[in-house]
Amino acid sequence: MRLILLGPPGAGKGTQAQRIVEKFAIPQLSTGDMLRAAVSAGTEVGKRAKAVMDAGKLVSDDIVIAIVSERIDQPDCAKGFILDGFPRTLVQADATDAMLKAKGLDLSKVVEIRVDDEVLADRVSGRYTCANCGAGYHDTNLKPKQEGVCDRCGSTHFKRRPDDNRETVVTRLQSYYKETSPLIGYYHAKGKLASVDGMADIDRVTTDIEKILESA
Ligand code: ADP
Ligand code: AMP
Repeated sequence: MRLILLGPPGAGKGTQAQRIVEKFAIPQLSTGDMLRAAVSAGTEVGKRAKAVMDAGKLVSDDIVIAIVSERIDQPDCAKGFILDGFPRTLVQADATDAMLKAKGLDLSKVVEIRVDDEVLADRVSGRYTCANCGAGYHDTNLKPKQEGVCDRCGSTHFKRRPDDNRETVVTRLQSYYKETSPLIGYYHAKGKLASVDGMADIDRVTTDIEKILESA
């Protein structure tokens, strides 16, 4: 299964992707995570991307397309993958089409997670992840069962993203509406789009996505 998760920052793409990974045993390809890894490693790509990411703007199409193209050739993607945060522009969407066609692959589904703008700043500014295994949490919406201890791996170390602040959310939301939301029509026209109500609680959103994927 080859799946794209579409939605504004804070919609719940990463949260739902982690659950789909467990259920369908396919990897989550988050361009945001890949770029953050490049920034931490101090690679050329990381150096070029850092300031753009901190400002909440989009990294250039060439860079992200190259990263994804290389990643989907890895053996763990043979049975499928979840694209989280990519494509984010029409250029990236066309490149994804071309990439898949060249490899003889098809896109199974694009799931749009719909969320009201008003909740996004709270979701993004309250977000944190386990520094060891990457499990996602939220200050009020999704706390670990035991405070300060990761449910999944038991680590007591957590981290927050430098771009997860209320000022950057405004820029990121503008990028979403200007550059990414046209992809909703793009995939609808191709008969690939399904939408879920991302305002529902996390488990409900998971159930709704699973229903869509079971019939994909
Ligand atoms: P995205 O990957 O789309 O940017 P995340 O999956 O990281 O968004 O979710 C952003 C924050 O909102 C996280 O802290 C997550 O725990 C929380 N969250 C995700 N889905 C929901 C939901 N349906 N209801 C409430 N909070 C949610
Ligand atoms: P995310 O983790 O998806 O919220 O992405 C964090 C930041 O990484 C974004 O604000 C962008 O600066 C950059 N980024 C991630 N994915 C892409 C993409 N597909 N195209 C351009 N920039 C991206």
